[in-house]
Amino acid sequence: MKKTFALITGGAGQDGSYLADFLIKKGYKVVVADRRSSRADNWRHKFLQIEDKLIYEDFDLVDFDSIFRLLKKYNFKEIYNLAAQSFVKSSFETPISTSEITGLGALKILEAIRIVNKKIKFYQASSSEMIGNSFLKSQNENTFFNPQSPYAISKIFAHYITKNYRDSYGIFACSGICFNHESPLRGENFVTRKISKSLSEIKLGLRKYLELGNLDSRRDWGYAKDYVRAMWLMMQIKKADDFVIATNKTHSIKDFINEACKYLRLKIKWIGKGKYQRAINLENNKIIIKINPKFYRPLEVDYLRGNYNKARKILKWKPSITFKNLVKLMVEEDLKRLKK
Ligand code: NDP
Ligand code: GDP
Repeated sequence: MKKTFALITGGAGQDGSYLADFLIKKGYKVVVADRRSSRADNWRHKFLQIEDKLIYEDFDLVDFDSIFRLLKKYNFKEIYNLAAQSFVKSSFETPISTSEITGLGALKILEAIRIVNKKIKFYQASSSEMIGNSFLKSQNENTFFNPQSPYAISKIFAHYITKNYRDSYGIFACSGICFNHESPLRGENFVTRKISKSLSEIKLGLRKYLELGNLDSRRDWGYAKDYVRAMWLMMQIKKADDFVIATNKTHSIKDFINEACKYLRLKIKWIGKGKYQRAINLENNKIIIKINPKFYRPLEVDYLRGNYNKARKILKWKPSITFKNLVKLMVEEDLKRLKK
């Protein structure tokens, strides 16, 4: 039987790992392409028990040759471009390399597709950060882009070049405008995982306190496993298009903390305002959460909430779990890991 090959760039990351697992179960031969350093311990693939089911290729999104070589080597049906410098805060410190990877990288793959085989389908990991600060209560595919970081601006370049290759050359090229999505496989520098892990450590007596930045921004947080299903669905429709993937709910960082504390049975009390906010553990009156301005960003996205009506109608997609269950899932897994 002829094998169907899919390529995932950034396959060692959170989404790449869940997507690899999903595609394997669908019967694809999955090639994951990463910088070797990214999969040094390969913890996500180990967690999902997929290590021996994948084909690994060394690859760097800034290097056109490595993309071109892969497209010549395999007869890909679908390419999912998930590789990126994906941490917004770092993009302020490394704006040029972020643009080269997160922005220009997509163009390099599209150009290789145009040269090698225009029938290859392409998925681009676009982001709600492109929308940035909007005055709308809920944002969709037509919402004006008002980016607030070099990361967001790089993603906008990748988003529009994807549309341009679709319109100019008839390539099946689509973008998922994904709002924040989390899981036990989320990187530890993102706020949700930082909270779930650190509060679990505090609960187990392994840490005294947690330092964070802006607690008042709001995000639309979904479950990463749901979002990779949406990516695949987008690649299966007749005509390539762009879709918002979100939950249409919004919560603050403080809400996430409160929910995690509830699950961990940590009784806390908030005192102070702004920079001086802190949370006290009512069991021993010790501060367990405080603000460190080093975690503030030069510019902030204050509020995100995505309207995923188009995905619901056309892809028949909807999120599978609630915010409360997402927090529970993450804290539960961190507790389990720490106890090991
Ligand atoms: P991750 O950071 O977990 O995964 C991105 C992967 O890309 C990492 O393994 C990273 O390696 C790799 N990478 C970085 N630079 C290069 C490079 N030059 N060449 C090859 N690989 C590289 O992110 P997620 O899985 O969470 O996200 C997947 C994609 O979706 C990203 O493009 C992200 O920007 C986008 N996105 C994510 C959202 C989310 O909430 N998760 C929301 C919207 C969009 P290393 O870790 O070693 O740098
Ligand atoms: P982002 O939405 O892609 O930037 O995802 P993050 O998880 O990195 O950040 C989400 C929000 O949490 C942003 O508004 C941050 O300013 C806020 N935040 C507050 N404290 C922290 C922190 O210590 N680390 C991170 N990563 N974000 C924080």
